[in-house]
Amino acid sequence: MSAAAPIDSTLTDGAEELSAEQVLARMVERFHPRLFLACSFQQEESVLIDLLLRIEPEARIFTLDTGVLFPETYETWRAMEQRYDTQFEAWRGMTLEQQEAEFGPELWKRNPDQCCSIRKVTPLKEALGEVDAWVVGVRRDQAPTRADTPKIAWDAKHGIWKAAPLADWSERDVWRYIHEHDLPYNPLHDRGYASIGCTHCTVPAADRSGRWAGNGKVECGLHG
Ligand code: SF4
Repeated sequence: MSAAAPIDSTLTDGAEELSAEQVLARMVERFHPRLFLACSFQQEESVLIDLLLRIEPEARIFTLDTGVLFPETYETWRAMEQRYDTQFEAWRGMTLEQQEAEFGPELWKRNPDQCCSIRKVTPLKEALGEVDAWVVGVRRDQAPTRADTPKIAWDAKHGIWKAAPLADWSERDVWRYIHEHDLPYNPLHDRGYASIGCTHCTVPAADRSGRWAGNGKVECGLHG
């Protein structure tokens, strides 16, 4: 039986009325340096990184490097580190060679859940084991599975606190902020990719339907 969710009104009281900056400030004040911002180089993270590093220049940002990200994603990673003079922490699963030896070739085609488990879910668990809270770029209008996302809540799956400061932002809000502040962003967004993941499992699409297109999978297993 899982433990009951902790109650902490200093974190959650009035959180829904806070701006993205205020949510981040509350999380930083309470948790930094045991706070991680998860970055998968989507447009939302361009905004969050900028907001977070204005509040705390030493804030910790991590990414799950699956080893099969797009070249444009790796370029965006370097551009962001240069802009903010910081280094993101990279977490990885087993090598692709180990995966092929153990599970056979092209696991992402035969069993994407298992591949995501190895390359994303397990490294995520290891990363989050280092902190007491994390920040994610989830927005409510991205997908029906995300419609009830709270701005600050206990993450029972990982046993830490979780914040989604952009929960009530629209995609238009995100792009307005990016352009107003001339932020680096993944150029794949300009080529029709609304949501960007691994090369093997992402095709251009106006929404998250471009991820694992055609096989019914809708989430990596990171936020559910
Ligand atoms: S998105 Fe595809 S390649 Fe990436 S970890 Fe998941 S199944 Fe594997």
